[in-house]
Amino acid sequence: MLDHLITPLAETDDCAAIRDAVTAICDRFDDAYWSQKDREAAFPYEFSQAIAEGGWLGIAMPPQYGGAGLGITEASVMMQVLGASAGTFAACSTVHINIFGPHAIVVHGTEAQRQRMLPPLIKGETRACFGVTEPDAGLDTTKLKTRAVRDGDRYIVNGRKMWTSTAQEADYIVLLARTTAIEDCKKPTDGLSLFYTKLDRKYVEAREIHKMGRAAVDSNALFIDGLPIPVEDRIGEEGMGFRYILDSLNPERILNAAETIGIGRRALAKAAQYANERIVFDRPIGKNQAIQHPLAESWAELYAAELMTLRAAKLYDEGKPCGAEANAAKYLAAEASFTACDRAVRTHGGMGYACEYNVERYFREAVATRLAPVSRELILCYLAERVLGLPKSY
Ligand SMILES: Cc1cc2nc3c(=O)[nH]c(=O)nc-3n(C[C@H](O)[C@H](O)[C@H](O)COP(=O)(O)OP(=O)(O)OC[C@H]3O[C@@H](n4cnc5c(N)ncnc54)[C@H](O)[C@@H]3O)c2cc1C
Repeated sequence: MLDHLITPLAETDDCAAIRDAVTAICDRFDDAYWSQKDREAAFPYEFSQAIAEGGWLGIAMPPQYGGAGLGITEASVMMQVLGASAGTFAACSTVHINIFGPHAIVVHGTEAQRQRMLPPLIKGETRACFGVTEPDAGLDTTKLKTRAVRDGDRYIVNGRKMWTSTAQEADYIVLLARTTAIEDCKKPTDGLSLFYTKLDRKYVEAREIHKMGRAAVDSNALFIDGLPIPVEDRIGEEGMGFRYILDSLNPERILNAAETIGIGRRALAKAAQYANERIVFDRPIGKNQAIQHPLAESWAELYAAELMTLRAAKLYDEGKPCGAEANAAKYLAAEASFTACDRAVRTHGGMGYACEYNVERYFREAVATRLAPVSRELILCYLAERVLGLPKSY
């Protein structure tokens, strides 16, 4: 394949070392491995283990808990490599929650919580899932209905979550639930609390959702029925959970953008290779400008998205505001990647539709990046309001 097309920019020696080391791990898991995982909807334990053994899960976690103490810039280089690997989005989703999920614990947890919760996540001994989305709330998180009711030194939780990824494998959950009824709160964003607790299957049923792509990594509807959560599993103050989640949105958007750019880059590299090799009308199809131009355009679009992602990561790591850049990066990356995957399928003609060439798998995975963790529409609403000064529309 055309390796230079899938290699992320690495502007420091650290980034280059991370890129090369993570690439070496990813190269052990080829298209045949991921294609089988996708076909069988089987979790990629071997890959997950290899990343954990390499010590990569703690890349952005503090060193005193076993992490590497690096920034979102370095973590995004790592995640772009995963996105550009044969596993594309599935490879990223296998470890995504370990990389970004503990952020709220680092920032808002007590020292005792950090010592108890972070090392097993960083070593890959525990797997966590992320329970925010609900069937009846959608993107309007303040409307979520899962209730956590205080009962002495514990909370009892009842409710439903939707799309919770990796809940079939996870033993812990980052859970957002309402602790004060919305009518009793000054603002709808008040009264939500954040927990990091055992996913006790006596009280939680995880029903897998059959979906279009990323079959190797499950997503689930959760039915929570009387789950007891000890008070010491609440992160930060009661009622402040929404704000804690907001804090971690920017790094998540940046990492997600990097992952997505990786997917588009891999599809583009496959398309360029095929366009050079496939002979029709006695010449490579890549000699036709109708094939060349869309691929060249995708290269430029992915590069622009990568620069915006690096800019957002740099601002975040410097402790500067980066909401506009992080959202713009996520938007540009998803659009560029989806388009590149679509073009890769079409460049392959009929064979683009055949599983053998893998581009149809990349395409199916890229579709999800325009929907989650936040949709393209909601990003544009945010930019219109916060950057352009237009009235809030949601
Ligand atoms: C593969 C996958 C994995 C996921 N993993 C997780 C996970 O691990 N944990 C988790 O909590 N969630 C997860 N999600 C859920 C994901 O974050 C949500 O699907 C996403 O936030 C969108 O919410 P929704 O599906 O309820 O869409 P809805 O809120 O129902 O929106 C539907 C459509 O309407 C549009 N829309 C809604 N309101 C407006 C408005 N005011 N203006 C303009 N457009 C609007 C949206 O943009 C969207 O296109 C996952 C989703 C997918 C697809």
